[in-house]
Amino acid sequence: MKAQEEFNGEEKRMLDLLGKGLSRDFPNPQRVGCPDSALLRRIALRTVPLSEADRWLTHFSSCSPCFQEFTQFRKQAVERRRTQVWLAAAAVIIFAVAGWLWVHTRPAVQTSATVVLDLRERSLARGENPKGAKEGDLEIPRTARHLIVDLPIGSKEGSYDLALLNEAGDEVLRATGTATLEDHVVILRADIDIRNLSPGFYFVGLRQLGPEWSRYPTRVI
Ligand SMILES: [Zn+2]
Repeated sequence: MKAQEEFNGEEKRMLDLLGKGLSRDFPNPQRVGCPDSALLRRIALRTVPLSEADRWLTHFSSCSPCFQEFTQFRKQAVERRRTQVWLAAAAVIIFAVAGWLWVHTRPAVQTSATVVLDLRERSLARGENPKGAKEGDLEIPRTARHLIVDLPIGSKEGSYDLALLNEAGDEVLRATGTATLEDHVVILRADIDIRNLSPGFYFVGLRQLGPEWSRYPTRVI
């Protein structure tokens, strides 16, 4: 870092001299004691150690042709670095815009609008006051709009009431649907809207005849 600063200081001193006519005041048509062009270029691009560059910088300050070449290479180097900075900035902007577009133009997530509940192997909630959620309870996301319920073995086809009951057993949502036999399974389809329901523990209630709900522990998520 320190070496770089010294180098910059030296360069500044030399460029200051440019204003004082250095580029003309030390003609050296024979190029006596000059580095070859490749070395001069590497010095200008700062790819040689300062210890080596140092004596050449001293030479440049008393050799107009070298000084002119040196300043030319420096200008190119600065120009190129400026271009690289611009390209890097442009790349950052492109990635930012692409990222924004990716986030904001994706179609809204529809994946859980239809939820399948398989009650074929489910056991009914027992007792008046079953305790909260358990591992393996049914799950219904609040984004669900359509339920497809595989009814327990032996269920009849026909019209059903479907409800969501809270933990106390009160109805919070009611829907009706028709169950039909499809490929040896009685399937009930019903539309629901539970966007406004709080997540938590509920029961899915089903009944075909009579006032009693068959209740299945469920988590609304
Ligand atoms: Zn020279």
